[in-house]
Amino acid sequence: MIRRFLEKPGSVDIAPFERTVAAAGALADRARDLSLEELREMAAGGVGSAEFCAAVREVADRTLGERPFDVQLVGTLAMLSGNVVEMATGEGKTLAGALAAAGFALRGKSVHAMSVNDYLARRDAEWMAPFYTAMNLTVGWIAEASTPEERRAAYACDITYANVSEIGFDLLRDRLATDPEATVQPVPQVALVDEADSVLVDEARVPLVLAGATDAGAAVPEIAALVRRLSRGYHFEIDDEGRNVFLTAKGTDTVESALGISLYDHPGTVTEVNLALHAHALLVRDVDYIVRDGRVQLVNASRGRVAQLQRWPDGLQAAVEAKEKLAPSDTGEILDSITIQGLLTRYPEICGMTGTAVAVGENLREFYKLKVAVIAPNRPCVREDEPDRIYPSLIDKELALADEIVAQHATGRPILIGTLDVAESESLAKELRSRGLEPVVLNAKNDAEEAAIIARAGELGALTVSTQMAGRGTDIRLGSPEVAELGGLLVIGTGRHPSSRLDDQLRGRSGRQGDPGRSVFFVSGEDDLLKAYLPDETLPKADKDGRIRDKQAAYLVGHAQRIAEGVNTEIHRNTWRYTRVLEEQRARLLDHRDRILYGDAGAEALREARPERYRELVEQSSEEAVATAARQIVLFHLDRCWTDHLGYFADLREGIHLRALGRLSPIDEFNREALPAYRKLLEEIEKRSTASFDALDLSSPLAEQGLKRPSATWTYLVSENPFGSDWDRVLRRVSSALRGRKKG
Ligand code: ADP
Ligand code: MG
Repeated sequence: MIRRFLEKPGSVDIAPFERTVAAAGALADRARDLSLEELREMAAGGVGSAEFCAAVREVADRTLGERPFDVQLVGTLAMLSGNVVEMATGEGKTLAGALAAAGFALRGKSVHAMSVNDYLARRDAEWMAPFYTAMNLTVGWIAEASTPEERRAAYACDITYANVSEIGFDLLRDRLATDPEATVQPVPQVALVDEADSVLVDEARVPLVLAGATDAGAAVPEIAALVRRLSRGYHFEIDDEGRNVFLTAKGTDTVESALGISLYDHPGTVTEVNLALHAHALLVRDVDYIVRDGRVQLVNASRGRVAQLQRWPDGLQAAVEAKEKLAPSDTGEILDSITIQGLLTRYPEICGMTGTAVAVGENLREFYKLKVAVIAPNRPCVREDEPDRIYPSLIDKELALADEIVAQHATGRPILIGTLDVAESESLAKELRSRGLEPVVLNAKNDAEEAAIIARAGELGALTVSTQMAGRGTDIRLGSPEVAELGGLLVIGTGRHPSSRLDDQLRGRSGRQGDPGRSVFFVSGEDDLLKAYLPDETLPKADKDGRIRDKQAAYLVGHAQRIAEGVNTEIHRNTWRYTRVLEEQRARLLDHRDRILYGDAGAEALREARPERYRELVEQSSEEAVATAARQIVLFHLDRCWTDHLGYFADLREGIHLRALGRLSPIDEFNREALPAYRKLLEEIEKRSTASFDALDLSSPLAEQGLKRPSATWTYLVSENPFGSDWDRVLRRVSSALRGRKKG
């Protein structure tokens, strides 16, 4: 016990929780005889105590027909203490989380229960509703299609279930409200995060964006056409990790003579060329994106799914549209944006649950000051995790994989195959069909539909091919005792992921609640993971049957994965260094904004700055009319200036990356400029507001006095993938283009 504790820095000692839960066991009989009313009192008497545990267990049993196991209650207590709990797939985290949410609510806090998609938010809210109702607590859920009224009603509940991005979008939209009545979201109190490692770490850097309509941005078909004629190795090079592409001296000459300009004097064109080159050489159709209905749709690499709302930063989106010869989609001005990490750190209390937390324990501590509580399964896991099957080439691997699937499927054993992307799913399915099999293919296009399909993946003879996270959060039960006799669900990974957690999540689909099961990954020396992170290594020789069994091979695969994880953390850390400054300024500015929106800070500021003018206007109309106009004026300029400030920061960051060539520390440089920029922002708001106030004509609408707000707004997520932010890559390429140029 002590050794386990010492070996995992950042993990929480759960012994005190276990003692409380043991004491709760002794209260079970007493709880059974109590009325709901009495149980509610018992729970509210001491949230987190043995009485609380015994009471909520009894209420859950009566209302949901599921009596929480001891391990679930330990998880509940660990969450109530503000930790991230690690509980394996199928252990019943939904219920453990609901008991914790009820505890927070009894302490008088409202809880945002965050899930990874709309389907799960609604499912969990509806599933747990009878329990909450019996506890006299209200519960609501939000989905993408929810109206403002529905959102307001859901947020007014004690517990609100929603996809994390919906919560972020509501925050951003509220941010622009000019009337307190128009806001939907209350002040954040408790965030209870499901799939906590995905949300808090993998997607932490994803910016949620609120955009407003402007003139369409310029996609450059000529440059796309020019880049299409360039060849790798001659005109451009791709770095070893496959993350950056840059023009060679030859390529630069070709581009310059084709465009008739010197690139060094045209940094804007350098950016356009690099965006086009990035779209051309690094983004692969059907892997990174698909083209459907004349539109580019991103495939979220970390989830292997088509992400409806996601797009790249505007320039890159336009470059890919130009590459595919599509009409440019609407572009807009970014009015405001916040990262998922920025959104979460607004909550004074955070806790969460996931099957894979320990591996990101360090990140959770560094970025959120969260600790991990490791909870053993209710019944021991007997799944066999086979060592990787490693082959020299991709072809060898694919043949062995198909052979294994055919052989296993012949026994009737259910098989779930996890692929790394949509293209791989499709090509594997094609291969299997050519061998007379009929796999079901899931690409995470429709969460509800796919949840129903994956729930049946454990039935006799089931053969399911699925991208990493299609149907996530859905329990796979074994279809019959016969399936258990066949060894349970067989999970096959077609390649190791860039993080061991993603591997573990796939394995965890099998062997739930002590079920039998098996997992195995197929790997080849030509897999992206190895090519990208260990480009100079070659795997040892294969045996006669074509498989590599040398221990060194397994070591190299694990090593490549650890490098990938390290690179990813470093990028996360670096992005956060930049965004944190902005998030802090954002929070401060929003405090001002709230005082203007909900109070009289706008009117007071203008009365102080222009007392005569203020009096004059009041005489013309009324105190109230002037106060209202003052509020609208200051809000308008505050929002406008913030949008400009964001743009300034984006430029600043870009410029600083270029300046980094001059060996200044980029982050220090950035921070040095950030504070004066913020002061200037405040001055600018004041200056513009007083100018508008001086010119104010109370008899005509403000929109006609230069205070016109965006006619339409929309929200989206900027694409993220485990290989780094596209934007970072673009910036790095701009730098390397210039660097190459200077050298040449
Ligand atoms: P997780 O999110 O941990 O993977 P879920 O919350 O989806 O797991 O629950 C998995 C399954 O276990 C569900 O079918 C649920 O009904 C069942 N379950 C959870 N808790 C209990 C319990 N205490 N007794 C019986 N079944 C339970
Ligand atoms: Mg779950």
